Order: sequence, then C-alpha cells, then structure tokens
Amino acid sequence: MCPQFAVLPDEYRTADENDLIKRIQARKAELGKKLLILTHHYQRVEVVQMGDKVGDSYGLAKIAANSPDAETIAYCGVHFMAEAADILTAPNQKVYLANPTAGCPMADMAPASKVYEAWNHIDSILGKNKVVPISYMNTTADLKAFTGKNGGLICTSSNADAAFKWAFDRFEKLFFFPDQHLGRNTAKKYGVPKKQVVLYDTRKPGGGIEENALKKAKVILWHGHCYVHTKFKPEHIDLWREKNPKIKIVVHPECIEEVVDKADAVGSTSFIVKYCEEAPPGSVIAVGTELNLIHRMAVTHTDKKIYELAGDTCPVCSNMFRTTLADLCFTLENPEKATRIIVPDEIKKDARTALERMLEIGR
Ligand code: SF4
Repeated sequence: MCPQFAVLPDEYRTADENDLIKRIQARKAELGKKLLILTHHYQRVEVVQMGDKVGDSYGLAKIAANSPDAETIAYCGVHFMAEAADILTAPNQKVYLANPTAGCPMADMAPASKVYEAWNHIDSILGKNKVVPISYMNTTADLKAFTGKNGGLICTSSNADAAFKWAFDRFEKLFFFPDQHLGRNTAKKYGVPKKQVVLYDTRKPGGGIEENALKKAKVILWHGHCYVHTKFKPEHIDLWREKNPKIKIVVHPECIEEVVDKADAVGSTSFIVKYCEEAPPGSVIAVGTELNLIHRMAVTHTDKKIYELAGDTCPVCSNMFRTTLADLCFTLENPEKATRIIVPDEIKKDARTALERMLEIGR
C-alpha cells in the first residue's frame, strides 16, 4: 500500500470529492497570495483544476523562483520537482510535496554514487576540463549540486537544445544524464555524428565503452530512460498514418530516436500543449506523451480530435497519478504533518548555481 495513503487519516481517505474541493478552496481563500499550488501537466484533471499554475518542470521551476510572496508552496508533481522549487526559493518559503511517495523512476536510474564513479572514470581517461556535466531536471538535488560544482547546468526538455549550445560553447564534450533518449535526440538535432555519441552503462566494465571511443566521443549519455515515453514505437505512427494520412503526430523528446524521426513535431510538454492549442480546428493529432495530459487536451479542444499515440499501451505516469485531492487537502490543512521538502544548505548552493544557469539560458 502506498505509504501516504496509509498515513492519510480516514477523514481524508473517505471524503467525498466535493467536500475536498470546498475545503481546498477554503484554505486557498484563507491564505491568499501566501499559498501557491503548483501542478504538473501530468497530474489528474481534478488536481490541476485546484492548482494556481499548471506547467512542465521548467515552467514550474521558473514560477517558484519568481513567487517571493508564496510562503507555502504545495507541489503536485514528483519529488525532484519539489526539490528544485526548494532550491530556487528563499529560506522563509516552505515547499511541500502533496504526495511524498511520488518519485521519478528515471531519476532513480542515476544514483549519485554511480554518477560520481562514472565521472571519475571519464575524467581519468579524458583529463580535466574536457567534459562538462549536463543534468536533466529529473535528478536528485545531490546531482544538481554535483553539476553546478563541475561547471555544468541543468536542462529540461524545453531547453535541452540551448543547454547543448551553452555547453559546447565552453567545453569539448558533454556528459548527459540520466535520460539517454533526450540526450541522443538533442545530440542528433545539434548535428553531433552518431559515432561520437556513446552510452555509458555502469553495469558493464569501463561503462561498456572502449577507451578510444570515449576519447573520440562528443556526447556521453547515461543509460536512463522514462518508462512512459519509451512505450511509443514507430509502428504506432505507421498505424495512424495508414488510417489517416492527414494526421499530425507530435511526440516528446524522451521517446526513442526512431519515434522522434517519424513524428511531425517533437518538443517538451509545454511545446505539445501549445502545438495542440494552435492547431487549426478540424485537426487530427496523435500525441506521444503522458495520458492524463492527452485526455485533458482532448476534452478541452472539442474542435479537434486528439488521440493518444499508442493504442495498445497505457502511457500513464503512475507516480504523477499518485497525488489525489485528498493528498492536497491534507497538505493544506495539516502543514505540520505534511511532507516538507528541505534541501540541505550545503547541497543547495551548488545546485542553485546549476539551476540558475538553466534559467539564464531560457527555453
Ligand atoms: S513521466 Fe517519466 S520522466 Fe516524467 S515523472 Fe513520470 S517516469 Fe519520470
């Protein structure tokens, strides 16, 4: 059983949805600008409706950084996002993760100790100051600090292109973690030849890369992936095109290269939201991203047909799905018992440097 569900008092677990909505609204009215509820695009629709802002991890990090009046930030997303909000806000601002069991399996694929080990190995072969770390937002605060300390920056799928440019303007090589697909797709877009993109797999001796190949590499990728976005296959695109040659396909860059290559458009969650919003009435679009967002867009844009790309899979992020109205209501009514995310000061400083570099380059 999910631990948060286990600790939520019965009063919340069994509460009627309308009652929870009224109570959340009452806390919002009471706290006014002192409260900010941030909801990620992949959250349940009823949670998004209770939020003050909805966005992707880049957009929400920026909002948190620019909301000095918010003494309480209730984050409806996953753990690394709430950590980023805590890093970017002032000490008097308290960040809570509405459901403390909501993590990101991709972030878990890059344990800090393994990344340090790989970094030391790479450094020992390539020498100092040749390679710079770029950490995807989906990492722990420790790794964000490691990135800041070693001259690198954080990126999201919104600004991976700009992060590559920033890094290549300063260093010869990039060490990108944890999402191999975003890294590979961005390297390709940037024009890095395929043979100069290598995959560092800590399960293999020497990361599974010949020393010579490592010396010639421009981009060193970590062996992580998102289990939601890698569900999409090129065959899903072929099937849609067979059924409707006029269909537009838009996918997230965490999808595998073969899917990205076949799509009409590729971009971050915010890009996908905008793409669907701006498509002319009558458009038919199949979307390769998380299911909750696709459903929300499908019911919002009734003048268009918006479908999920994979008919035979269920691309739900079960971690995002964990947060319920009961979690949010509990967090707002019981801040002293809710899960406050506190990043230790010694980690915060370097992590903040890496995040601020990301905010400086923009989208
Ligand atoms: S959608 Fe993928 S990357 Fe995003 S939180 Fe879920 S598992 Fe992590």
